[in-house]
Amino acid sequence: MSAPEPDKDCIFCKIAVGEIPAEIVHATELSVAFRDVNPQAPVHVLVVPRDHYENAAEVAHWAPAAASDMIATARDIAEKEGLDDGYRMVFNTGPAAGQTVFHAHLHLLGGRSLEWPPG
Ligand code: 5GP
Repeated sequence: MSAPEPDKDCIFCKIAVGEIPAEIVHATELSVAFRDVNPQAPVHVLVVPRDHYENAAEVAHWAPAAASDMIATARDIAEKEGLDDGYRMVFNTGPAAGQTVFHAHLHLLGGRSLEWPPG
């Protein structure tokens, strides 16, 4: 499958190409990482594939190298941010799980103690 078309209305497509500003913390050929505008923890970074897929499962299916890159990117950021005691990677998938932006994204959360189970 060739790379999907950018979605002209997608906010994370726009951030990935620099059309909308964001605090970028890391970028690779396949993904871009930036701080969440409404952080839920001292470190809250979103890692998105450059190409537009609706959710993480779609990335894993159609672009497994990008899925792997997103996870490795999150690990590298966690290391750089000193999250030595642990951190959480979350992929909300679908409205019932709390997904509100339908461009795949990994939430990297850390810097505080995180409860389980989540709400
Ligand atoms: P979801 O609820 O889809 O799993 O997560 C979407 C996340 O994107 C939310 O945590 C929200 O705060 C964040 N977000 C939404 N719009 C923007 C934006 O324009 N810039 C940044 N940096 N984060 C955003």
